[in-house]
Amino acid sequence: SRSDVHYFGAGPAPLPTAVLERAAGALLNYKDMGIGICEISHRSPEANQVLADAKQSLTTLLDIPDDYEILFLQSGGSGEFSAVVYHMVALWVERRRLRAEEDLRTAIADGKTEGGLEANVLARLKKEVEEELKLDYLVTGSWSLKASQEAARLVGSKHVNVALDAREANGGKFGAIPPESDWRLTPRIREGGSGSALVYYCDNETVDGVEFPSFPQCLETLPEDAVDNDPPLVVADMSSNFISRKVDVKKYAVIFGGAQKNVGNTGITIVIVHKSLLPPAARLASPDLLRQLNLPVGPVTLDWPTIAKNNSLYNTLPIFDVWVAGQVMGDLVQTFGAKKIAGQEDVSIQKAKLLYDALERYPQVYRIVPAKTVRSRMNICFRVCGGDADKEKAFLAGAEKSGLLGLKGHRSVGGIRASNYNAVPLEGAQKLAEYLESFARAQ
Ligand code: PMP
Repeated sequence: SRSDVHYFGAGPAPLPTAVLERAAGALLNYKDMGIGICEISHRSPEANQVLADAKQSLTTLLDIPDDYEILFLQSGGSGEFSAVVYHMVALWVERRRLRAEEDLRTAIADGKTEGGLEANVLARLKKEVEEELKLDYLVTGSWSLKASQEAARLVGSKHVNVALDAREANGGKFGAIPPESDWRLTPRIREGGSGSALVYYCDNETVDGVEFPSFPQCLETLPEDAVDNDPPLVVADMSSNFISRKVDVKKYAVIFGGAQKNVGNTGITIVIVHKSLLPPAARLASPDLLRQLNLPVGPVTLDWPTIAKNNSLYNTLPIFDVWVAGQVMGDLVQTFGAKKIAGQEDVSIQKAKLLYDALERYPQVYRIVPAKTVRSRMNICFRVCGGDADKEKAFLAGAEKSGLLGLKGHRSVGGIRASNYNAVPLEGAQKLAEYLESFARAQ
């Protein structure tokens, strides 16, 4: 039964039992309406309240500033790989268009440039896109790699600058983050460079067990590059460490994450986006202009301005999924009070330490995959007996017998992965640490 088991799946992942028990009731009879939450209209007052509550809890947990909006989409984390490109490129183009218009209007008035304003602006933008459009990606694992590949698919690989491929300095494998001095970011405008449309990274690499220890120092000053109150240009995928530690939201243009690890069940993706990318202030190039520049225009269901204008209800949002996420987040608000997400951060560090300490005690049996400074608190990846297939099988079989489930590593890398998300209780981490000890002693 559920109480005999601890589950360490990487996503879908465990959910708090208390939330599932409330969910069972809500599925049958929501707020005594006689119908269940999956049956109510997404446009009903009840659904609106579910959305408002979830947003409020997330705002409280992460101290999200007023100039950010929270959106709920059904894109999956992967859908946001594309959405990020559509929007950040449209922002870059609009910024260039405004500058070109200003320069050329004066030049035309002074008789220095011939022809109409619009044609001149378009010609200049075509040249700038061709020569200067760059999207910077920090590739530290499978998911940032996939995101960078999606960018290349959408805008062409010559516009994608892989500013860091962490495999290069690590024998062709992910597992380290080289020093910032080795990153090859596109030179900033104030340094005489052309600047990039975004700097993208994945805060926690689910498959490879690599987590950024903190916000990259060299990106701290990016907002200062911004002209005319542009937003910061940093985009982060926080799918697998969402609401597990403090985040300084104002350093980002966009933070996104699928719900199915730390927040809720599969079905929704949460996007925290700076309002300069949204109406009424949205400074995004029009679809017409993007088409003329051979740049991609995304589907309307991924269009953040459209989603924002409709309070995330442009199309039918799975309100049950939002409700579950809202319950999980609401419980964290209750549990940690004034500490907010820092309370959850403490617990996640404590649980991760238990497991890494147990692994480190038996270096002859366990090899932790990532480098010590970038070890994930969320996805603890290791090999057993040098990756011996039979030993790893035996490890998993023994774990299962002890009620410890979901420990098999991702199919692309093998090995063992213990996902230590928020809903894994301290007791679950303790049980796993004990099993690590007993298995190692038996070798
Ligand atoms: N980013 C990260 C860090 C992930 O772990 C995942 C899913 N495991 C994704 C993106 C993709 O999410 P989805 O499957 O919802 O598209």
